[in-house]
Amino acid sequence: MLSFDQKLDNLATLALRVGVNLQAGQRLLLIGPIEGAELMRRIAAQAYDMGSPYVSVMYQDERMSLIRAQRSPVHDLDTFPEGQRDLVYAMAERGDAYLRVGGDDPDLMSAADPQRVATMVRAQRRVMRPVSDLVQRSHMPWTIVDYAVPAWAAKVFPDLPQDQAVQRLWDAIFEACRADVDDPVGAWQAHIEQLARATEVLNGHAFSALHLRAPGTDLRVGLPDTHVWESGGQHAGSNGAFFVANLPTEEVFTAPHASRVSGTVRATKPLSYQGQLIDGFSLTFEDGAVVDYRAERGEAVLEGLLEIDEGARRLGELALVPHSSPISQSGLLFYNTLFDENAACHLALGRAYETTFRDGTKRPLETLVAEGFNQSLTHVDFMFGSSALEIDGEKPGGTLVPVMRAGEWAF
Ligand code: ZN
Ligand code: ZN
Repeated sequence: MLSFDQKLDNLATLALRVGVNLQAGQRLLLIGPIEGAELMRRIAAQAYDMGSPYVSVMYQDERMSLIRAQRSPVHDLDTFPEGQRDLVYAMAERGDAYLRVGGDDPDLMSAADPQRVATMVRAQRRVMRPVSDLVQRSHMPWTIVDYAVPAWAAKVFPDLPQDQAVQRLWDAIFEACRADVDDPVGAWQAHIEQLARATEVLNGHAFSALHLRAPGTDLRVGLPDTHVWESGGQHAGSNGAFFVANLPTEEVFTAPHASRVSGTVRATKPLSYQGQLIDGFSLTFEDGAVVDYRAERGEAVLEGLLEIDEGARRLGELALVPHSSPISQSGLLFYNTLFDENAACHLALGRAYETTFRDGTKRPLETLVAEGFNQSLTHVDFMFGSSALEIDGEKPGGTLVPVMRAGEWAF
């Protein structure tokens, strides 16, 4: 049984050795919430031990975003500082490792007007576009790991006193991230190999579409001829290092064709989007675009998301996660995409990943777009997986092959 200190150190080790795979001589950009300082200091200490010449630390205070959303005149909300973008871009472009510590209050921004929040988000996405382009292209090694901030823990465990809620959330994070074992790096290597086996099977089939069926869901997702299934990690363009962008990760994913999706999908978990909740929602697609939507809660927030741009109404990711994945088995709803997306099959509205197209990072974007790549300023995952999910793969000749039955791999 490891102590809390050892597990937190393991999490820092995993973020550096597995997450960004930090190399001696490589600088580190470390961004995270002020509440996450305890983990960020451990990450910085280990980074220097590993030979990093400099760790640039940027603390964020999400309450500042709420203050601005409530106080700023509406016409000023369309502003985001280019200087902040330029700073981060310079580091990312040089190939510095980019490590983000997450963990937000899922409800914080619900105290503000959704339209005002949407305006702020749009401005940030627009200005930060060059940085997100580097991220999506895997130019530099990057990763996200979460910190059990108290407001988040209170949302996941509303009936527990705060210190117990935080402790329970840490237990869940350590377990999902395999930070609670003696050899966490070795455990991750074995896990990555297991994910790679499912990826190989799916790539071997070269499906032209997948059919998803579950209560409230009947969706045909066409796949580009040049789609590639991916899992676990990728090699960074800047230094070739194999990095794992999400801790935890359980998903095997590819790109839907931007204009070949039809039918209806019903979400099986609430979506926490920019500090606001969207729940009980379904989306109907024709020729790849959302033509109808419903939400029991947060319909205006969902509308704001769909109206970011044309690509926000189309899909950029299809990810498969067996219902038996450890995060799913925890039975917890995390109100946090990094965890909830790894508990269930999901789709993303918005931008696709170049890495999910054959030689996608080496070819101009226009050629990928012609093959079905979705362009957008946003990328937002929502979950549709459950123990009732059935998926068939359609071969180019029309033959159907079982991919998932009752939420589990069928092969
Ligand atoms: Zn995903
Ligand atoms: Zn995603």
